[in-house]
Amino acid sequence: MAQPYIIVNEHSSQECAAMDAGIPKLPDQWKGTNFYCTCPGGVHGYFIIVEAETAEEVMRLLPTEFHAGRTKALALEIFQL
Ligand SMILES: [Zn+2]
Repeated sequence: MAQPYIIVNEHSSQECAAMDAGIPKLPDQWKGTNFYCTCPGGVHGYFIIVEAETAEEVMRLLPTEFHAGRTKALALEIFQL
């Protein structure tokens, strides 16, 4: 059963620009998903919240360009405050 995962990435400033090449390779079901980028503040990284069956599936669907630096997919529980 699909559930939410958050992709958490940290990368160096040098790895930033190369990630753009991965955008066209994102799976169709992730198109239109919010991309939370912390690069402008000087902490290079991003977060994406997606639906998937397993963390392994998330990592497999994520284009290699987006694996720059350290990347992990964490099962996510979402609730309102
Ligand atoms: Zn960056």
